[in-house]
Amino acid sequence: MKPTPLIAGNWKMNGQLRQLPELETIASAAADVGEGKELLICPPATILSASAGLCHGKLAVGGQDCHAEASGAHTGDVSAEMLADLGATYVIVGHSERRADHGESEATVNAKAKAAWRAGLTAIICIGETEAEREAGKTLEILGGQLAGSLPDGVQAANTVVAYEPVWAIGTGRTPTIEDVKAAHDFLRETLSKRFGDELANGIRLLYGGSVKPENAAALLAVENVDGALIGGASLKAADFIAICQACP
Ligand code: PEP
Repeated sequence: MKPTPLIAGNWKMNGQLRQLPELETIASAAADVGEGKELLICPPATILSASAGLCHGKLAVGGQDCHAEASGAHTGDVSAEMLADLGATYVIVGHSERRADHGESEATVNAKAKAAWRAGLTAIICIGETEAEREAGKTLEILGGQLAGSLPDGVQAANTVVAYEPVWAIGTGRTPTIEDVKAAHDFLRETLSKRFGDELANGIRLLYGGSVKPENAAALLAVENVDGALIGGASLKAADFIAICQACP
């Protein structure tokens, strides 16, 4: 059986209290995007608590990152437990911007995924090749290595989502071809099946991320083995995010 699609918005370092009406619009439209879909917005940690107060029903809130430890001397960091305390049910880990800006390795992402589980959160584990890796014909090799390194043992369909985000497609307006998205997602499903068995692998949601817009969402979301999307820029505008949710089959 196909897993319930997830349409997740990543607001990145955008959003202050004055943007909450945008989230309120998403929350009130969420009931009308069609049955059998889950929606998620990951606002900055600073407005997570206020955001959680507005989200209900099929719309959840999540964090954008977490520290691997539950607490301690880590100035400026936020733990998975702290996110859960504010009402988060998901957390993104291993986003390419974290990997690039903070030098996060597969081992770090793996530890963060385990921290998410420890706090009762679902980890959205991001992987994706750079443009140079793609041009060198290494996309699947890179994805295989990232999947092996960043997914801990103990994966369950309920605690893990994998987001395939080609680094070169994030925020650029460029997307892979539908054939390339299919090849990457088929490969991810097969790789998960080999490691965890078919039943578990078929239940893990595989999101596509990278320049998803209302105009291309229907085609991307219709691809076999694409179980939703991770959306950056277009999730900041309620109308665009809702249009993408409506385009999800
Ligand atoms: C992202 O940051 O995860 C992302 C997919 O961004 P965008 O949709 O803006 O490309």
